[in-house]
Amino acid sequence: MTVTYLDHAATSPVRPEVVAAMAPFSGPRYGNASGPHRVARDARRALEDAREEVAAMLGAAASEVVFTSGGTESANLAVTGVLAARAAVGRPAGSVVCSAVEHSAVLASCAAAAAGTARVQGVPALAHRVVPVDDQGTIDLAALAELLDPGVGVVSLMLANNEVGTVQPLAEAAAVVRQRAPGAVLHTDAVQAAPWLDLPVLVADADLVSISAHKLGGPKGVGVLVVRAGVPLRALLHGGGQEHERRSGTHDVAGAVGLAVALREAATGRRAEGVRVEGLSRRLGGGLTTALPGTVPSVTKAPVLPGHCHLRFAGVEQEELLVLLDDAGVCASAGAACASGASEPSHVLAAMGVPPDEASGAVRFTLGYTTTADDVTRALEVVPRAVARLRAG
Ligand code: PLP
Repeated sequence: MTVTYLDHAATSPVRPEVVAAMAPFSGPRYGNASGPHRVARDARRALEDAREEVAAMLGAAASEVVFTSGGTESANLAVTGVLAARAAVGRPAGSVVCSAVEHSAVLASCAAAAAGTARVQGVPALAHRVVPVDDQGTIDLAALAELLDPGVGVVSLMLANNEVGTVQPLAEAAAVVRQRAPGAVLHTDAVQAAPWLDLPVLVADADLVSISAHKLGGPKGVGVLVVRAGVPLRALLHGGGQEHERRSGTHDVAGAVGLAVALREAATGRRAEGVRVEGLSRRLGGGLTTALPGTVPSVTKAPVLPGHCHLRFAGVEQEELLVLLDDAGVCASAGAACASGASEPSHVLAAMGVPPDEASGAVRFTLGYTTTADDVTRALEVVPRAVARLRAG
């Protein structure tokens, strides 16, 4: 069966260049990058070359790049590590502020800190404040200003949303944070933005930046937290002191190399690729809203990532639609999924004020570097048939 993969925001196919670059590290270049001899030195050279390249792609210094196991770990390290560092020098941890549409990696880290469950890291219970968004998923800058004060320890605001694709006004938000909470550390989750946006420019105002390789055509289980010079951060993982005491554990050299290549490949021709994929997303969204009355795009008035096409189909349950699409070889998702793969009620759509009965008909189609015009043509054949079948009962 032909597979039409429209779930790039969940993960993107691994790029052939990444596979090729990683291969030697599953074979002859097996060294431990922390060791004293030539085999180790070979691994360390590859690791540090990857670090240099990742740093350049993110507008950071090499010393600011901390390799992690992915976006989830990076976000946890950002939120909890900053609070723990404050506690370690006897400062009050301060409250945590994040937007209502953050990925669960950020929301749950903030909630854990607020509940005091991060106390093992020396983080006492504190307040967790949530910034509302408008009906497009854009953070409310006035509400952000209201929620900030000099006692805030961490602010976490994503650059682009994983479900609906809204791109946030991060520079404006950062200016508000600097003015209202000058002692706060600003983290941005740039995991979804990374394949599409000019990161060195857009994350320049953030103190901490999270990236995940598998959203870029890189390997799963590899990520980065950029930690700008001078930002206090305490490790979550203790051990051999790798990554300058910020993240212990024997290095995944292959993963770091794969991430560097994925970032480079995504950056090559990014603008033209964004235009191409945005054209395909528009054709898909326009075609489906025309073919299926009662179909509403979730974001129409805010900047949105090129690959995102998030639609709400009236009179349809997303789970049932996704099964029919899967049967026909079209892979999409509901946007918010738990570990079992089942859809969860979307906290993003709830924050945007979408009523639950409308949210339950939402499907996220996400296009990426492998998506072709034929994929869109196929989806335009399959989706209307499936929706019509469900609507007919
Ligand atoms: N942040 C965002 C916005 C995401 O979309 C994801 C993954 O879906 C993550 C964080 C977590 O990244 P990882 O899968 O690498 O743990």
